[in-house]
Amino acid sequence: MNATLDVLVIGGGISGLATAWWLQGQGHDVALIEAAQRPGGTIGSVRHDGCLIETGPNSTLETTPLIGQLLEEVRITGERVYANPRATNRFVLRSGRMIPLPLSPPAFLVTPLFSWRAKFALACEPFVAPAAADAEETVAEFVVRRLGTEFLDYAINPFVAGVYAGDPAHLSVRAAFPRLFELEQQYGGLIRGQILGARERRRKREKSRQAAPMLSFRDGMQTLTDAIARRLKRLELNTAAGALARHDGTGWIVTADTRGGAIEYHARAVIVAAPADSAARLVRPLAPAAADALDSIPYPPIAAAVAAYDHAEIRHALDGFGFLVPAKEHRRILGTIFSSTLFENRAPDGIALLSTFVGGMRQPGLALGDEEAITGLVQEELADILGAPRRARWVHVTHWPRAIPQYTLGHLERIAKVEAAERELPGLFFCANYRGGISVADCIRSGFAMADRVAAALDARHPAAAARPTG
Ligand SMILES: Cc1cc2nc3c(=O)[nH]c(=O)nc-3n(C[C@H](O)[C@H](O)[C@H](O)COP(=O)(O)OP(=O)(O)OC[C@H]3O[C@@H](n4cnc5c(N)ncnc54)[C@H](O)[C@@H]3O)c2cc1C
Repeated sequence: MNATLDVLVIGGGISGLATAWWLQGQGHDVALIEAAQRPGGTIGSVRHDGCLIETGPNSTLETTPLIGQLLEEVRITGERVYANPRATNRFVLRSGRMIPLPLSPPAFLVTPLFSWRAKFALACEPFVAPAAADAEETVAEFVVRRLGTEFLDYAINPFVAGVYAGDPAHLSVRAAFPRLFELEQQYGGLIRGQILGARERRRKREKSRQAAPMLSFRDGMQTLTDAIARRLKRLELNTAAGALARHDGTGWIVTADTRGGAIEYHARAVIVAAPADSAARLVRPLAPAAADALDSIPYPPIAAAVAAYDHAEIRHALDGFGFLVPAKEHRRILGTIFSSTLFENRAPDGIALLSTFVGGMRQPGLALGDEEAITGLVQEELADILGAPRRARWVHVTHWPRAIPQYTLGHLERIAKVEAAERELPGLFFCANYRGGISVADCIRSGFAMADRVAAALDARHPAAAARPTG
């Protein structure tokens, strides 16, 4: 491979695909290489026994208009499906009971999920002073300070397990939930910030997590990554980047392993869109401090177990999104999505499809169990919590040994080292879910921003390129 590309993207998860797509749309000559035999990374949808199984993310929130734009561009708007309105209830387990999370102030007043003391603490929240702007607190410290321990235990702990498979005692509030941190800093509190922040979002045409519609596709989340991949002019699968070197002072050479042997790519810019450990291996000889920072981002394991049952044999009505399990409940699962309620046509009539997550930061050892162990514990927990039969019709298990990056205390300093490497090594960029948010929507937003940054850097070095066609 002798021709010089404008950009080589390493890694074909949603971060790399979205970035490559938008750079290609700006007229740049882009190639994307992916180590695996299919694109999509964590996103994967498979059919099993008439059911649609998501092996990774089940849905994404439409928090940004960029999602609609991307779907239009890759022509899958008609494939999009929104969550069933019956799936608004989210249950939290407390003392073994499934309690719906209150979704309005009147529901909050009467919910048995929180004691009167916890409700009073929420009412006092606007009067709690903000932390110093340079303080770095854990999510747990932040929540206890503003809302009290019960809120941490029965709202935030299960929520953090559901989103990050994380532990609020380790995550940095500033890195993992920057909006919460900003609400406090900008408006003095969360409740005040919610009200005033809504105006700001309307101006930017963005939606809060609570207000954003939840979407997937008729054939599952993989529709999105497959559609982008199909439209990229150069996508090379089974191609793993192994080494990265400077070339002629301005460009880059990436050596990759393919089934047919090693191959070299010459590119003016390289975007590393691989997970942090892979990125660290690639850049260690050039940027050891950034490599150390990337290597120190924890990625706990998760096992995702999708189980099919006869709906009529489950005692619970499954009338919601699913349930989350606070650590205080001492269970062996983090939570379960009622997949066949959440979206239509996920399972044949009469079949309930339940997607349960095991492990994370809370119980990493459990996620490493073999298929039989995971199947056993998930069936036991679902029988106990939902009144499901002791044995499911079948259980499909996916192991994610390094599932989700944790934005723990010190994360922003780690990312600062990555940014320093980008400044010291012009033409080298990093874009993946350890930066800018872990959700699919965040990765799309980060990919868009990264494409603009890289395009600006290329155009700055070769002003003639700025005259290229767009769209
Ligand atoms: C079980 C699970 C459930 C989730 N649920 C949700 C959800 O419901 N909603 C939501 O919004 N988010 C969810 N997430 C998070 C979200 O799916 C991920 O954060 C996002 O998909 C990550 O995308 P990415 O492109 O940054 O990384 P990845 O998807 O990890 O992609 C990185 C790619 O780089 C490739 N690669 C690595 N090294 C190399 C190399 N040397 N050369 C070439 N290629 C390489 C890998 O093979 C991989 O394909 C979930 C995550 C998990 C694990």
